[in-house]
Amino acid sequence: MEPPHYNKISQLLLDKFKEVVGESFFFDEYEVRFTYAFGGSIFNKGWVPDLILIPQNTKQVSEILNLANKNRIPVTPRGSGTSLSSGSLSPYGGIILDLSQMNEILKVDIENNLVEVEPGVICDELNETLKPYGYFFPPDPGSSCVATIGGMVANNAGGIQAFKYGVTKIYVIYLEVVLSDGRILNLGSKVLKSVSSYNIKDLFIGSEGTLGVITKIGLRIRPLPKTRKLGLFIFENVDDLKDAVLEIRRRGIVPNLLEFMDKIILKAVTEYLGGEFFDFPNGYVLLAEVDGNSTIEVDESFAVMFDIIIQKNPIYNKIAMTEEERERLILARKANLPALSRIRPNTCVEDCTIQISEFSEVIKKIEEIPKRINAKNLLVAIICHMEGNLHPTFLFNENDEQDVKDFEKAIDYLYREIIIPAGGSITGEHGIGKIKTPYLELEHDSNIIELMTQIKKFYDPNMILNPGIGKGDLRAINTPSIKRSLKNQSDSILELKCMRCGFCITCPSRINYALETYSPRGRLCLLNGLVHGDLELNDLITEVFHTCTLCGLCQTKCPAGVNTIEIFEKAREIIHEN
Ligand SMILES: Cc1cc2nc3c(=O)[nH]c(=O)nc-3n(C[C@H](O)[C@H](O)[C@H](O)COP(=O)(O)OP(=O)(O)OC[C@H]3O[C@@H](n4cnc5c(N)ncnc54)[C@H](O)[C@@H]3O)c2cc1C
Repeated sequence: MEPPHYNKISQLLLDKFKEVVGESFFFDEYEVRFTYAFGGSIFNKGWVPDLILIPQNTKQVSEILNLANKNRIPVTPRGSGTSLSSGSLSPYGGIILDLSQMNEILKVDIENNLVEVEPGVICDELNETLKPYGYFFPPDPGSSCVATIGGMVANNAGGIQAFKYGVTKIYVIYLEVVLSDGRILNLGSKVLKSVSSYNIKDLFIGSEGTLGVITKIGLRIRPLPKTRKLGLFIFENVDDLKDAVLEIRRRGIVPNLLEFMDKIILKAVTEYLGGEFFDFPNGYVLLAEVDGNSTIEVDESFAVMFDIIIQKNPIYNKIAMTEEERERLILARKANLPALSRIRPNTCVEDCTIQISEFSEVIKKIEEIPKRINAKNLLVAIICHMEGNLHPTFLFNENDEQDVKDFEKAIDYLYREIIIPAGGSITGEHGIGKIKTPYLELEHDSNIIELMTQIKKFYDPNMILNPGIGKGDLRAINTPSIKRSLKNQSDSILELKCMRCGFCITCPSRINYALETYSPRGRLCLLNGLVHGDLELNDLITEVFHTCTLCGLCQTKCPAGVNTIEIFEKAREIIHEN
């Protein structure tokens, strides 16, 4: 689906957009736009947008889209920019619609198990609000500390408790959506049952901002379980682990958490966390937890699950006896990415799904990828949510040309030779983004692709919304822009291991200035731009570095251990020298 010709934004139009959002929420400075060319994905290609608009309400979103549509200007919605598939980046330029400031929790209605939120509300913040009521919103992506509800709905995000609680879609009961021409739709209803129309609401969930901009969300919430019990089991053999999972399902046990990690990850995690507690033998890990409202009920389910697993001969098991021990075992799962990021400079988390019956065959094939494609330096580690959602994670060095070629070959091999032949899907929760389109035609036949094209054209005839999703040649990463970070410079300032996951963006100065540019991730992007000659030092950049209070919050939140304080202090020194 080729996007049409887009227009550049004229001065007259810039003025009109400024009128809509007001001067404080309109940004056309190159340095600000530059920081919006990056996000959680490794596939950053220097796609600098032409304009950043930060709407405060639905009316402004509607007016922006109406103007953009009439003038054929692309619009890419953005929450926290943590998409791992470049979903919130703008290959065709145009407007980035930063929805992070529409972040009110509008209603908590415990009687009806319902909350109403604006799209910029952050997942963990919603759950903090719900906790005193004894309720929660169950989908919990690894990025829940920064992911916005709008981004989660647009991607139909999942998480580590999806085995029992499912993905975002299950909880969305109504949506307010602005179409590309500015029309505002209210979809779904507040009641739990209704068949009074086609289910148009669900079409927007997981549509990645290509059909409309989500401006209000009604979510079902659930009472928090009162108790839970977690065990970690290590198997020598992946077939035994799979058999244990199949038997757990057959016996009707529904763990709230059922997670897999392979040998490479376990080794990386034990080395990273260290200490006696994490002195596990190496093997394939199954983390399994049951939750519920009474200790008796949970103990009984756990005992049945434990017996099933033990019969499949794990070489090691550990049960969390206290909440503290539970936290430490969960840390073994949460530390996957930082632990892996210490092995090779680059970590790319892929996302695909298979039927669980195919699990061990698929794992063995993925483990063999480096050998099959004759890639000497490439490593692949595998994480899996045991509802069949695999995250094969490729480790390589973007500064090594052969490594990059091998990495690209490996991804192609993964989808073409393993996932599609196994009857799987090319994405379970990260979306197509700007990177998976080449594989869409492998999963769906031409009739389905044609139907999807018609749906897109019906809702967005000028194709202004998030162009690039649906166009096939955006995936390759071997452009200069990706192969750059501070550590690769001979005159390196300091090592920069930033994965751009965005965990640091809830920093005080970002909250104060309401702009990515003033977040630690934004500052690191600016620094990278300066080092590589994309940007020149000016008053704006100087100000951005001096609004950092060096409080160090970002450093505590950074999974990759980026030494932000030292980097920002050094950057200030250099700025002063200049
Ligand atoms: C370390 C890490 C761990 C992760 N773990 C998980 C995981 O366990 N499960 C999972 O599902 N994902 C995971 N992700 C991916 C990502 O965090 C989620 O998809 C998240 O829901 C995106 O939220 P966001 O606010 O950052 O959205 P963005 O990245 O800003 O946007 C995501 C997509 O939604 C669109 N969009 C955003 N807001 C709107 C809106 N209001 N209206 C219409 N479209 C919109 C964007 O255009 C884009 O296509 C992880 C990411 C990282 C970096």
